[in-house]
Amino acid sequence: MKTDSFSNQLRWVILLLAAAVILPTVCLLWFMNQAVKNERLAVRQKLIDVYREKTAPLLEHLEQERLQFEQSLQEIEELEPFSFFVEYCFEKEHADGVLIYDSNGQVFFPVPSENTSFIDTDPFEKAWQLEFVDKNYSEAAGEYERAVMTSSIPYVVFQGNMAMVRCYEKAEDVEKAVLVCRELAYPGSHIINEYTSSDMIRARLKLVQLYQKLDPAMFENEAELLLSDLLANAQPKPLPSEVRVFILGELLDLIKQTHLAQQHPGNFAKAEFLQNAESLSLKALAKFQNEPLGDTWQENDLETIDLGEKAYGMLFKVDNKDVVFISQRNSIIRVMTYIAERLSDSTVTVVVFDEQDVPIFKIKKKAADAFLTIRPSEYLDEWKLCFFFHDADVFDEAANKQAAIYTWTGVLVAVLILATGSFAIRSVNHQIKMNRLKNDFIATVTHELKTPLASMRVLVDTLLEKRYDSEATATEYLQLVANENKRLTHLIDSFLTFSRMERNKQVFETAMVSPVEIANIATESLHTKFDSGNVMFNINIQKPLPMIYGDKDGMVTVLVNLLDNAYKYTNSDKQIELKVYEQNGSVCFAVKDNGIGLSIRAQRKIFNRFYQVDSRLSRRSEGCGLGLSIVKFIVDAHKGTIEIESHTGDGSTFTVRLRGCKG
Ligand code: ADP
Repeated sequence: MKTDSFSNQLRWVILLLAAAVILPTVCLLWFMNQAVKNERLAVRQKLIDVYREKTAPLLEHLEQERLQFEQSLQEIEELEPFSFFVEYCFEKEHADGVLIYDSNGQVFFPVPSENTSFIDTDPFEKAWQLEFVDKNYSEAAGEYERAVMTSSIPYVVFQGNMAMVRCYEKAEDVEKAVLVCRELAYPGSHIINEYTSSDMIRARLKLVQLYQKLDPAMFENEAELLLSDLLANAQPKPLPSEVRVFILGELLDLIKQTHLAQQHPGNFAKAEFLQNAESLSLKALAKFQNEPLGDTWQENDLETIDLGEKAYGMLFKVDNKDVVFISQRNSIIRVMTYIAERLSDSTVTVVVFDEQDVPIFKIKKKAADAFLTIRPSEYLDEWKLCFFFHDADVFDEAANKQAAIYTWTGVLVAVLILATGSFAIRSVNHQIKMNRLKNDFIATVTHELKTPLASMRVLVDTLLEKRYDSEATATEYLQLVANENKRLTHLIDSFLTFSRMERNKQVFETAMVSPVEIANIATESLHTKFDSGNVMFNINIQKPLPMIYGDKDGMVTVLVNLLDNAYKYTNSDKQIELKVYEQNGSVCFAVKDNGIGLSIRAQRKIFNRFYQVDSRLSRRSEGCGLGLSIVKFIVDAHKGTIEIESHTGDGSTFTVRLRGCKG
């Protein structure tokens, strides 16, 4: 019953303490988890803010440019197509090509080709025969001249003259060719209106080619003049774009290798640029001839155009005309890459994604995985700047590091709580045990003292009242009183030793002692018991024995208790032996009896305080369950061991082993 209530009490205390430990631990872990989550969000937001801020000035700049561009378009009062094209494509770099339609949907720019008259081949038939079949160039030239003379159609006249130039050139009469060609390139004012701009510019190109063969200085002059006239659009009549693109191409080829290109790199570059831009405009125009803008195009909307390579167009109204700015994909990529490069740093890579969410470089990243996505401009439609961490896990790593710190702190705190908790449980446990012990002690002491005191009182009363028949009976009673007194003294000694032991007050006076002396003193103190008729006591000392270092009285108590138990727990024909011998440098005291023996279960418990295998028998055998716990305490204090060898009904041997002193 006692044990039950004790373990119940202990279970409750442990449960409460466990709750006191587990609850705060769980709460702590939950808080930590929340803290880590918040930390992640906070870090993420902080980074987003930092990079947004970094991006802002660049986007602001783009926006400013856009506003300025729109402003400049609104300010145009009268749109002059070619200079508009040069300004917006070359000077402001707003586009790679331009299309301009007037309010009726007629193409304004690129300048359409002039109407070419159908050539009447008859007058030239003979000349062609001479030139291409007979290869008689001087006669062919004469024949062309005759044909020209008879015609009044300017186009035929021009073609005939150009054929003459060709024939003179083939006949290697370059000077004559130059003379005729010059007349065509720079006709007198009376006939200037008769030739088309395209024809005259072709003649000028031919003149450059002829001068190249004749005179380098003249070649340079003529080429330079032609180039600047083409760039300034300084023709008497608007030059068709197709012609300018062709002439510029040829001219650039001619001067590419000369020092003219180096002397005027600006002009050269501008010519190259405009040639590309105008030919792109022509390409776009050709595309829209099949697919007109119609109503599908909205102002300020970025439209995709397939010009062999991908390009984009955007429509604006300028001076009542529809202006389409054409941009090559590469130009958009260039602007976007410039911004992306300015924003990338050691932590972050900025990747440009096009309108179809495809990264413009070979990068295995998805726009959706970016920690920040910015659309750089209203004009760039669905184009995106996506921010990624270099190392995909850098962010996670930072957060995990923080999480690890929190987790370890949590674990540490939890371990501390657990350690404190278990310490508390242990000390409470100890306290409960001590309480129980105290109660047991008091109960046992009272009970054990009561019996001898009561029997002594009865005997003394009997003697005082002289209720005995003879002197012999009186002596017997007195003897009984003396025995009870002795038992009482023994009990009180045990209690005192135990009490000192419990309070850790037992002091041992250690010194070199002979094991034989200990054995003799112990045997001596029990001789009255052992001298009785039914005891066969044998002391077996196997010399030589080493000395031991210990407390003589303590060790005597050990042997007395063991011998006394051997006496107590043996029925009739007691055979008790005390054997002292040396084994492996240790001195062994073995107390053997032929008594009731001990079960394995009892052997495990007999050193516990107040434990008695059979309390009924103990009453008879004057014990209180403290003897062996005192023995164990003393043996432990001497750093020795005690072993039991016993079987129920077969007697027991208790062996105390103490380390012997060398020498
Ligand atoms: P007690 O004062 O009851 O003898 P001990 O601590 O000396 O207390 O012994 C505890 C119990 O161990 C005893 O009650 C007894 O049942 C058992 N015991 C001790 N010595 C022997 C022995 N030699 N033979 C059998 N039982 C023993």
